[in-house]
Amino acid sequence: MEKFVDTQQDHFVNLILKLLSNDEPLDTIFKTLIEFFEEQNPNTICSILFLDKNKKRFEKVYAPHLPDFYNQALPHLDIGESAGSCGTAAYTGKRVVVVDIQNDPLWVPYRDMAKAANLAACWSQPIKAQNGEILGTFAIYYVEPRPPLERDIKTIEQAAHLVSIILKYFENRSFAQKAQERISLIYESSIDAMWLIDIEDNGQTYRFKSINDAFIAVTGLTRAAVLEKTVEEVLPPTSIPLVRAKYAEAVSTGHVVDYLEVAPLPAGVKVGQIRVKPIKDEKGVVTKILGIAEDITERKRIDDRLKESEADLIYAQHVAQLGSWKWEAKTDTVHWSQEIYNILNLDPKSGPLRFTDQSKLYTEESWNRLKIAVEEAMATGGSYEVDLEGRSNVKGPRWFVARGEVIEKDPQGRPTRLAGTLQNNTERKLLENNLKAALNARDEFIAVATHELKTPLTTLQLALYSIVKALDGEIDKDKLISRVEKAKLQGDRLEALIKNLLDVTSIGAGKMRLELKPDVNLSSLIQNIAKKYEYDLTKSGSSLIKNIEPNIIGLWDDFRLEQVVTNLISNAIKYGNGKPIEVHLRRSGQNAILEVRDQGIGISEDKQKKIFERFERAVSETSYSGLGLGLWIVKEIVTAFNGKVWVTSTLHKGSSFSVELPIKAQG
Ligand code: ADP
Repeated sequence: MEKFVDTQQDHFVNLILKLLSNDEPLDTIFKTLIEFFEEQNPNTICSILFLDKNKKRFEKVYAPHLPDFYNQALPHLDIGESAGSCGTAAYTGKRVVVVDIQNDPLWVPYRDMAKAANLAACWSQPIKAQNGEILGTFAIYYVEPRPPLERDIKTIEQAAHLVSIILKYFENRSFAQKAQERISLIYESSIDAMWLIDIEDNGQTYRFKSINDAFIAVTGLTRAAVLEKTVEEVLPPTSIPLVRAKYAEAVSTGHVVDYLEVAPLPAGVKVGQIRVKPIKDEKGVVTKILGIAEDITERKRIDDRLKESEADLIYAQHVAQLGSWKWEAKTDTVHWSQEIYNILNLDPKSGPLRFTDQSKLYTEESWNRLKIAVEEAMATGGSYEVDLEGRSNVKGPRWFVARGEVIEKDPQGRPTRLAGTLQNNTERKLLENNLKAALNARDEFIAVATHELKTPLTTLQLALYSIVKALDGEIDKDKLISRVEKAKLQGDRLEALIKNLLDVTSIGAGKMRLELKPDVNLSSLIQNIAKKYEYDLTKSGSSLIKNIEPNIIGLWDDFRLEQVVTNLISNAIKYGNGKPIEVHLRRSGQNAILEVRDQGIGISEDKQKKIFERFERAVSETSYSGLGLGLWIVKEIVTAFNGKVWVTSTLHKGSSFSVELPIKAQG
């Protein structure tokens, strides 16, 4: 450019620059340029021609003062080694100076055309791009034959150079425009909110300069509420410290800064994944910030909900003690939920066990059943449910229920995915076992009870029968009395048995109630009971030694006390081996102490606690009849009186049952 600028042409250069800065089109600029050169050189006609893409012909012609027919013919002429001045210059890339068209070999094909256009001389200068590519030509025509002066040559050189610069400028401008357009297209069509901030007052003020449509849609703010406003005027106060800090970081580091912002906005509470980019001016100073925000509110909500339902599932599995698993055939991978590790007492860090390794968890019998069930489900595409017993040497629950099914098959019908659950079934299994044991005990009890009731009943019936028979004939009065007494005894025994049976149900249902009376004389109560047992004592061969402190009187329930004493004495007779039995009663402070001792079969130490439980016996039912209820009832009653009962015994030597009763029992 500098070469071209001299005093003569200052005005022209300014004019061209003005046209360029006004964004005038190329046509206008070239027209102005041609007119300037034509004015500078009277009797000349100037042309600017541009080659087509293939560099074969001229495609564009700027020559306002050449005749129309000439301009129209130009684009159809091929360039070449001798194709007039312009065609040859464009072909060779060298200036072509034709002084006399009519007599120049280069012009042979176009002589007539030139004549008709009244053109006699033509000097043509190739227009070249910076890289040397030939773009076209700048030419000056004369109406008379004439050679150029040095000044003329300089003129066409400078003109061609100027055209090349103008073209380059236009190319750059259109490139910049396109880039600008592309950027605005992205900016405007982006679904992410975008904004441009001006940094003012040395970084003190951040002012919104532009926002895109998405910004409005996402925030619910209007353009008027944002543009030319500071961040403090636009954003919620809770966001300001974060936003200022991040903008400042972007400015100071010159780098992109990412952050997450949760902001209550007119469009609702929004969660944005934000990225701010500092933009530098030509001096390298950050003067603007470009912001872009991805609205992740919905994603965050879904994420949160997913996390919540995951937590719910984990909790539900934990409460149900039921874990879930999945198996992928393709990769042979197993996935266990957290609860499976809990149930099996395994560390989640060590990962799930492969199916075959699970054999070590269960008893051999259980493992075999599980294996068969799984194999069958795999073969049929069905499901299974197997009760499993854990190995006793493995820590944790003992019983499990394993369920599973094929949930996906390949086109050949082979299972590709299995899923299922493992549940801790220990509590249920124990309950079930207890229930089974209770049912067995009940059946046994009914059998024993029936037998127990039947024995005295048969004896009673026999006694009554013989009484009836005796009444018919002559009978000795004493004999009759003895038979009636025998019958009565069996009746008493039956009554005691039935009382015990009734107590099982009523005490078991928590119904034992004491009927306390103020002056219950325990001493005489024991004496009376002892009398009742005279017959049984005689029969068993045991003697009864009584050591009873008289008149121990308390606030008691006499009916219940009678049961206690009866049960203890009858047991002493039953298990006493016909040896002497002692009954002791004494006062000790505020308590009465009753002791029933025998020298019978005794009770082994391990059974001594158990015998106070319901249906528990330390002897076989074939050698000694009984229901296993007496001592349980004794314990229940004594406990209700706030007292204690215990046994000291040596096997084969005898037992001593002691009862301690508060004299003023509180019912
Ligand atoms: P039952 O006598 O009907 O079996 P109990 O509850 O009265 O029921 O007694 C429970 C068990 O305690 C008896 O089966 C017996 O094994 C043992 N037992 C009770 N009293 C004595 C005793 N005096 N000597 C030895 N064993 C006894």
